Amino acid sequence: MLVRFWGTRGSLPTPMWNDQIRIKARAIAKAASGQTFADDAAVETFLDAQPYWMANTYGGDTSCLEVELAGEEHLLCDFGSGARRLGGAMIGKHGPGNGQTYHVLMSHLHWDHLMGFPFFVPAFIPGNRIVIYSCHDDAEASFRRQNQAPNFPVDFSVLAAKIEFRKLKAGETTEIAGAKVTPKLQLHAGDSYGYRIEAEGSVFVYSSDSEHRIEDEHAADGFVEFFREADLVVFDAMYSLADAVSLKRTSCWPLYRSGQERHRVRDVTAVHRQN
Ligand SMILES: [Zn+2]
Repeated sequence: MLVRFWGTRGSLPTPMWNDQIRIKARAIAKAASGQTFADDAAVETFLDAQPYWMANTYGGDTSCLEVELAGEEHLLCDFGSGARRLGGAMIGKHGPGNGQTYHVLMSHLHWDHLMGFPFFVPAFIPGNRIVIYSCHDDAEASFRRQNQAPNFPVDFSVLAAKIEFRKLKAGETTEIAGAKVTPKLQLHAGDSYGYRIEAEGSVFVYSSDSEHRIEDEHAADGFVEFFREADLVVFDAMYSLADAVSLKRTSCWPLYRSGQERHRVRDVTAVHRQN
């Protein structure tokens, strides 16, 4: 089993800013000062020897992971903006007309987790099959709405691939693309689901957009079992633990409605900064 990250960002895709590129360029220019390079291969060797951040980047696209298994069918987690590059890479690898099957496990239906679907080129190609799994009742409606005018010029109904939706149930194990897949309900606005994926003697847990409450011990018990003996856990780290249990919780969207509650949020921010 090999897990490849095509997108890891929460909320919205974030291209690198000019200032950030200049910081990298400055660091590389300094490191290369006085050196000469015979060819591109020598430049590559030099770049590979530098700290990762200097000559590379990551994390600009929203959530999309590929779980590479021994079988021919593909297993993905979420359809964030990273799905655009993933689709291109799949066509590059397998050719445009070579009927591929994609199984996609949706953590939930927030926009950052499905915004890549309209740009997932395999969905436009006849012969491909895309099976979208979700524990949410409104998964199909959400995907169709995203492709609907005026949101997007290509309506869902004209996509040439065969697209199916399957409902999963938390705690029930289903065999998908040769892996045993078990969803778990997670605390998040509108609910999210993590997936425990077992295949080829390895366990991978995908747990995005999951909030944990420090005072709720019994909720943690379920997650201990969910993560137990996993070889790899992908865990949401958009907020620090302190943010997750204090600021984010207090500043949850409904609390913004009144001036009094806004004041409460500021109080918590002040306390948090002092700490
Ligand atoms: Zn979310």
